[in-house]
Amino acid sequence: MHQLTRQFIDNRWVESASHRRLPVTDPYRQEIIAEVTAGDSTDVDAAVAAARHALPAWQALGGERRGVYLSAFADALLASRGELMQLSSRNNGKALAEAAIDLDDAIACYRYYANQARALEGRQGRLIEHGLDGIQAQVYEDPAGVVGLITPWNFPLVTSAWKIAPAMAAGCTIVFKPSEITPLPEQALAEIAEGVGLPAGVLNLVHGDGEGIGAPLTAHPGVDKFSFTGSNVVGEKVMHAAAKGVRNVSLELGGKSPVLVLDDAEVEQAADWVMAGIFFNSGQVCSATSRLIVHDDLAEPLYAALGKRLDAIRLGDPLADDTDMGPMSSARQREAVQRYLAIAWEEGLVAVRDGRHRQLPERGEFVVPTLYRDVPVQSRLWQEEIFGPVLCGRSVSSDEEGIELANASPFGLAATVIAGDVERARRVGQRLRAGSIWYNSEQLVLPEAGWGGFGISGIGRELGPWGLAEYLQVKHLIGPESG
Ligand code: NAD
Repeated sequence: MHQLTRQFIDNRWVESASHRRLPVTDPYRQEIIAEVTAGDSTDVDAAVAAARHALPAWQALGGERRGVYLSAFADALLASRGELMQLSSRNNGKALAEAAIDLDDAIACYRYYANQARALEGRQGRLIEHGLDGIQAQVYEDPAGVVGLITPWNFPLVTSAWKIAPAMAAGCTIVFKPSEITPLPEQALAEIAEGVGLPAGVLNLVHGDGEGIGAPLTAHPGVDKFSFTGSNVVGEKVMHAAAKGVRNVSLELGGKSPVLVLDDAEVEQAADWVMAGIFFNSGQVCSATSRLIVHDDLAEPLYAALGKRLDAIRLGDPLADDTDMGPMSSARQREAVQRYLAIAWEEGLVAVRDGRHRQLPERGEFVVPTLYRDVPVQSRLWQEEIFGPVLCGRSVSSDEEGIELANASPFGLAATVIAGDVERARRVGQRLRAGSIWYNSEQLVLPEAGWGGFGISGIGRELGPWGLAEYLQVKHLIGPESG
């Protein structure tokens, strides 16, 4: 059993000050595979002090040389790809093929920001065009400072890459708190930092829960900026804490994203995209398209096609080659999803497939992949993020009605439009209120394109140049052209 009781601070492995320990589980085998420290404010103090001390030299190193470290992170992840896939699969419950996608996403992200770091150095001090004679104006982009990065458990190594890579590229130094549910794969990042000889204090990894590490970190006056991915409830707490001392905050929160199937869509293809949008990672995806909005004319054949696909999902051991879907990542998450299934029962929702249609594996924190149709808009299952393999459908009689229904949510993280006519799908997509909109495709994530939400799905953007900008402060120098 792994003992994750040491924190990675200032390039040293130091025993956590906390005596509280949390179990880390394998949600398929339902056994404890590690213990992680709950951490405490003493760990946070030491990590913030190390990050603050490392900041000037890391900034002065310049983007070109910081980029070399980022490339080394990508290389190191690639070198241990197979091992990390296994670890991620065991700790999180995701099927191996899904863990492979995660690893490749993280590697691409570190590579992308290696290039962005180099480009940043190249544009420091560039001249700004303006209309005043004899005056020179230049722009510099400084790091935001010491950053506190907090991530959830659904995509270990991915949500952290989306923060650590741009923060390092920008010249920030980092205190990183991974989720206490999936600390095992994330621990690799500290080992990589040590292995590639990252300067001490640039990346500090502190294990722990919200109470032990999260709250003291967000309260710490030595942190200049926070980037948080997780639930809306905790996101609001982070924002409150950041308000003290007017610290900057980026938030990547929840979603209740729509998938629209227009009346000219090809049903079998549409069914494949709808499935990919909700059942990947057992539905534990912030951008899951969990509200199906289908044209009346296609509703019956689409529900029939989806029913067949739901029956074909192979639930089982995430490490086995013939498994399509693993368990929920934890017993807590299984219980949270099952509470929604109980509400659906009370509300009398019509199930195309639910627990009555299949047997679950004998062990593991599984939830039956579920599809409800004709779900009333007032239903909690239509309104709230479930974060599990549960799809809710409704029919509409026109594109206009579909667009209105799709946009009728306080969330706005993602959306998908499926049509026979690609141009029509694109046009409808453009009218949706979300940060990422896919048309005739599903859940494509590119390191070059931004990620983030409208409305209560968050503040700011990750990935792309926007993801780097979140960790930069813009500075202008303006004065006479010559002495
Ligand atoms: P969570 O909010 O419970 O926890 C997220 C992180 O915050 C964990 O590391 C946790 O330990 C920490 N935390 C808990 N209390 C804290 C506190 N008081 N102060 C500071 N940190 C604290 O979320 P979760 O259950 O781990 O993840 C699921 C949620 O994450 C879903 O709502 C999902 O939509 C969201 N998510 C969003 C994105 C996105 O890109 N928008 C990506 C992945 C997940």
